[in-house]
Amino acid sequence: MSDSSLLSLAIRNEEFGDVAVLTLNDPNKGANVLSQSVLVDFEKHLDDLEDRDGIVGLVIRSTKPGNFIAGADLKEFVADIDLPAEEVVKVAQRGQQLFGRLAKVPFVTIAAIDGVCLGGGAELAIWCDRRIMMDNAQTSFAFPEVKLGLFPGWGGTARTPRIVGLANAVELVTSGEGIDAKAAQAMGLAQDVVQVSPHRPDAEKDETSHEEPLLEAALRMVCHEAEHKDYLKDRDCWAAPISSEEGGISDTELGFLGATASAYIQQQTKGNYPAPLAALEVMLGAAGVDVEQACQMEAEGFTEVFGSPVNRALLNVFFLRDANKKQAGTDAEPAKINSAAVVGAGIMGQGIAAASVKRGLPTALGDISAEAVGRGVQGVLTEVSYNKQIKGPDVAKALEYTPLINGTLSDGEIANADIVIEAIYENQEAKQELYARLEPHLSESTLLCTNTSTIPVTSLAESLERPENFCGLHFFNPVRRMPLVEVIRGEKTSDQTIATAVAYSKKLGKSPVVVSDGPGFLVNRVLLPYMNEALLLLEEGASIKAVDRAAKSFGMPMGPIELYDTVGLDVAIHAGGVMHAAFPDRIEPSSILPAMVEAGRKGKKNGQGFFDYPKSKKGRPVPSDEANAIIAKHVTASKEFKSKELTERLMLPMLLEATRVLEDGVAHSVADVDLALIFGIGFPPFRGGLFFWADHVGAAKILEQLGEYQELGKRYEPTDFLKKTAEGDGKFYPH
Ligand code: NAD
Repeated sequence: MSDSSLLSLAIRNEEFGDVAVLTLNDPNKGANVLSQSVLVDFEKHLDDLEDRDGIVGLVIRSTKPGNFIAGADLKEFVADIDLPAEEVVKVAQRGQQLFGRLAKVPFVTIAAIDGVCLGGGAELAIWCDRRIMMDNAQTSFAFPEVKLGLFPGWGGTARTPRIVGLANAVELVTSGEGIDAKAAQAMGLAQDVVQVSPHRPDAEKDETSHEEPLLEAALRMVCHEAEHKDYLKDRDCWAAPISSEEGGISDTELGFLGATASAYIQQQTKGNYPAPLAALEVMLGAAGVDVEQACQMEAEGFTEVFGSPVNRALLNVFFLRDANKKQAGTDAEPAKINSAAVVGAGIMGQGIAAASVKRGLPTALGDISAEAVGRGVQGVLTEVSYNKQIKGPDVAKALEYTPLINGTLSDGEIANADIVIEAIYENQEAKQELYARLEPHLSESTLLCTNTSTIPVTSLAESLERPENFCGLHFFNPVRRMPLVEVIRGEKTSDQTIATAVAYSKKLGKSPVVVSDGPGFLVNRVLLPYMNEALLLLEEGASIKAVDRAAKSFGMPMGPIELYDTVGLDVAIHAGGVMHAAFPDRIEPSSILPAMVEAGRKGKKNGQGFFDYPKSKKGRPVPSDEANAIIAKHVTASKEFKSKELTERLMLPMLLEATRVLEDGVAHSVADVDLALIFGIGFPPFRGGLFFWADHVGAAKILEQLGEYQELGKRYEPTDFLKKTAEGDGKFYPH
């Protein structure tokens, strides 16, 4: 038999009979993935085992550390994306029939899960008669399909509710979130859980070793099932309807579950992500039929989501992220980073230090006074010891991380680190003074990085002895939630510095995008025209509510006016000034911002901005008469806006600026721009990215839309990049 490189089959002659052990480990990949060729081999193995006499059980397991099966091969999925619905049904049915054999073969089937078990892998496991899971940090069972705008199509929605109950299955499938071994056992998904052996935790397992506790537990289970045949009763039960006249979940319960789940999903997705609701509908609809019919309903429902615009957009985001993980920024070899230091223990410094500590890096944190350092260290420890489950600090975590953070006032201790990140306040002289003091203490190879949001990296490097070791490392606020880091190349930054900064950012679990130096770098440069336009719309007579609503209906996490309050109006004036100085012909700062700040309204940080943020409303924005009165003084027209016009007025300047960023070479690809905006400002993933959205609209149509706004001046003037795209195939993404 021609084994795919992923699968290998061994037959073990145990006292109680022959046990087939199918082992997954693709030596050429970091993860086990179910490609078509793997599925073909899997089918051959099942044929072979069914033809043999004496097999009492099949154990499916992986010897790839931390990975059972990462899912189906998404590249193959994309190749099928334009298939007609009747072909998509067949693709789903083929998977269902293949995996469905695991619940029909004449011996017990067991998935022995160690590591991630996702998507198609979770479906393979759910079709087995039994699941045993390793109780360790890596092991997680999930149906993440909804995160790609899909739902499980190889029997996941049909089989899971029959094993764990409809409510649990609905939560698993519609949330896309993973559960660990203990949670899986508690809901009846795993029938046994194996504790981590203290020795050889990450070692590749020997296929025949009797020391492998998960395999041993699986073999014990085969022995038990071969004797007692409990799995045969479960096969009957799990093939039957969930609700029927004879029992199971009642119509009332079904109605209640449907109403609460659908309300929750609507609130979470705001109508922008259709897959969870579609999955819910399929699962509720199939409660009264047997598993075969449930599979048929699943396959038909799957055609509604597969290839939909949201599915395509989310797949794009997946591939952007995947490509980003593989990019190193340059061909240079990164230096090893075994320790970090952060200077400036404010909002950003604390976030960066906490991210380093969480990844196990010894981290020094400095500031100008013992008090500021103490506050910073406290902030870092509060963040790293936070435990989601108990919604508070976890003493064990605090004890684990405390030795890694070193609050210090000593330049020598800061300079000992492999990478030093400056996050002091936004002042060029202060930053340069600090570098002049620190640099003599730094080794020849130490990286010095700045978290500046507006000051050109090249000018900050002017007086450095080793400007080649210097670059921008621009984290976004709050660091713990925002995955983007802009790695900014100054004129003299070396390739190795870029490679090391990229590697460090990845070590922190971030998605770094390498950009060239320039005003606002990438993200703030593209964001500012959109934000500024919001103020100009207010001047023309649009209401705050209408402007913010237009942006939110487009999918932005908050409207631009509320975003001003979040960023801080004083900070926004500064950033706007930088952009105006650089691009005076198209960035015209509104007079509203200075008037607000003059009236003491700085945004969320002092509870008053475009909105008020009263404590009684737990910091939520409420309209402010005072702010509205200030705005009224700056309104110069009383135009009535349709929501389509508001959306175009906001999004088109953003898109044009993004094309200029590419023309200027600040960003290197449409993919980088899209990833940076999704991960840096929360551009809606269901749009696939700014350029992906523009591709959906079409470059020619965008030119047409811009035509309507030409009297507004330079900021709506089509760029050469846009015009060329419109003259070509109309798409920004290369095909
Ligand atoms: P912050 O005011 O919260 O903290 C700055 C800290 O630096 C303070 O604790 C201050 O005491 C300390 N400091 C000032 N001079 C110092 C010196 N010479 N040596 C040591 N410590 C010194 O500021 P922040 O919001 O954390 O911003 C820090 C940097 O990050 C700025 O360059 C800012 O532009 C940039 N940034 C901020 C954000 C944001 O949203 N806050 C986002 C991205 C980047």
